[in-house]
Amino acid sequence: MKTIHVHCPLCDFESSTVKISGVDRLIGGTHAFTLRFCDNCSMLYLDPRPDVESIPLLYPDSYRPYGYLRSRFRQIFRHIRLRIRAALIVTRLKPGGTILEIGCGDGELLAEMQRRSFKVKGIELNQAAAARAVQKYGFDIEVGTFTQAKLVNDSFDAIILYHVLEHLIDPLEVLKKLKKTLKCGAVLVIGTPNSDSLEARIFGNHWVGYDLPRHLFPFSEKKLVETLKNMGFKDIVTVHEIDTNSWMLSINWRLQASSGPGKKWLFRLLSPLFFFLVFPLALFQAVFRISGKIIVFARK
Ligand SMILES: [Zn+2]
Repeated sequence: MKTIHVHCPLCDFESSTVKISGVDRLIGGTHAFTLRFCDNCSMLYLDPRPDVESIPLLYPDSYRPYGYLRSRFRQIFRHIRLRIRAALIVTRLKPGGTILEIGCGDGELLAEMQRRSFKVKGIELNQAAAARAVQKYGFDIEVGTFTQAKLVNDSFDAIILYHVLEHLIDPLEVLKKLKKTLKCGAVLVIGTPNSDSLEARIFGNHWVGYDLPRHLFPFSEKKLVETLKNMGFKDIVTVHEIDTNSWMLSINWRLQASSGPGKKWLFRLLSPLFFFLVFPLALFQAVFRISGKIIVFARK
């Protein structure tokens, strides 16, 4: 894998300080990646980061959001979370408009939107995931990146990026193009890990929200809201999700780091106990607005 040095994506300042460093815990390997914060504006970013040609190597078909191996139990919880998320989003949209989701994966969230009488369109980089979405739901899916997509200005009532922004090499450019694509008064919905969260502080480089090296820009709530305000978005509201999943994954990564990957059985054995302990914590975080997952709504 080739890597390149980059400056702060928000202010282009050169000087930065190391925040954390760690290996790719999803795919494996020994290469240590470093997350730094800008000495000028405090934005977090991966530096050095994989170059454009190397980035697809970070997303094999087994990459979790593309829908690999889900036990029945996990599927049920995932579906409940999805329904809650869809309901949360829908309450902030005018009924019956057209929604674009960027990075729609196998189309689960768009399917929930369609069920609620919205017209939907998706853009997805992974061909296999896009094919599943088309086959399962018959969606209009464009395969490729948002930057490559040919979209008409002022054409969508809402655009959703759910855990996509932190993966992009040019988040500011994408946000600018998104703003043009939205109708006047339409809503941008961004779901992302929150690097100011309790979990980020507890787990450090084992926090799944950092997901080195796929997350190039782990935003905090403050930084994301500030960025959207500077771009002229209005009525910005943040919802803190009740998120047990990132706790469970982070505990798993921490256990694997201390006891070795051969001890996966330890996590499996203890996971019902962990889940029981983690749920009230996740609820506490959502209430006190320090959750590891946030959804930011902003109006054009
Ligand atoms: Zn900066």
